[in-house]
Amino acid sequence: MSVFTAKERFIRSLERKDVDKVPVCSVTQTGVVELMELTGAKWPQVHYDPEAMATLAIAGHEIAGLEAVRYPFCTTVIAETLGCVFDEGSIDTQPYQLDFPCKDKEDALNFQVPADLAGSKRIKIMLETAGIIKDRIQDDVPLIAGMIGPASIAFYLCGAKNYLRWCITEPELLKDLMKLGTEVCIEYSNMLFEKGVDAVVIIDSEAGPDLFPPPLFRELVLPEYNKLNAGIKGHSILHICGDATDILDDMADSGFEGLSVEERTELSYANSVVAGRACLIGNVSPAATLLCKPADQIKKEAKQCIEDGAGILAPGCGIAPRTPVENIKAFVASRDEYYQE
Ligand SMILES: [Zn+2]
Repeated sequence: MSVFTAKERFIRSLERKDVDKVPVCSVTQTGVVELMELTGAKWPQVHYDPEAMATLAIAGHEIAGLEAVRYPFCTTVIAETLGCVFDEGSIDTQPYQLDFPCKDKEDALNFQVPADLAGSKRIKIMLETAGIIKDRIQDDVPLIAGMIGPASIAFYLCGAKNYLRWCITEPELLKDLMKLGTEVCIEYSNMLFEKGVDAVVIIDSEAGPDLFPPPLFRELVLPEYNKLNAGIKGHSILHICGDATDILDDMADSGFEGLSVEERTELSYANSVVAGRACLIGNVSPAATLLCKPADQIKKEAKQCIEDGAGILAPGCGIAPRTPVENIKAFVASRDEYYQE
């Protein structure tokens, strides 16, 4: 079989076409403190500085060896654009939410998306960063951008308490917030694709069974995913944290080409449910394995993921900031070893 570039291999994998070997990358956050110290591009400044964001994202590829450049390093871009307030976090903690705009039903009913998304502060930074990354890397490396999805947007907008309550008492209201979230995701994704981003990762863990009842997922969230994927002009991946087992069948019909799952979702079982409808991405544990296990154990678990049907070998969720670069390198090396054994 022919040998592909990293980008060809990544896109062919998402399209479920034959590849010489599975790609190894992270579709979730890649910023680790060691890379921040090596490059001088450190959290939290990186989240708001296009040059620094590009530098740290590229380091995940050029220094740690991941076969994609993936950015940003937080999940706050859309939420802050829509009026949520965040603390910027620190060198090893992600930004966290301080306040949200939809305190009650009336706020939610009257909520409006700002007109000029492209001109908003955080989205502008993201678009500028894409341009800088494209200038600084070869065109044969895939560029992946992450953002929150419709359910997470609703969750950020109305706060955890309202979100959980409205699942039961006001599903239509939640649906309206998700709909508006879908429109934002479509518009923002297409801006990123125009800047040269190859794939978007929609992180929508608040739609997962840990928080959201699976029958409601089918009723409220799945139609939003179908709409989102019909509206975007590029490759798409869905990431759900926690145990996604109960919604895998619906996820496979959501229109996302890639499904990124955590280690709590058993990959061989997921493979049997998804049955070729999407590319499975995962799912070595970032906290239990990548962060703290020795190289031989990381490699063993990573090879098992390929064995279990990962179409793209990746961490199950965002890489922990204190993960040693050596561990990421061992993770990447495991893929080559798998094909030599
Ligand atoms: Zn996750």
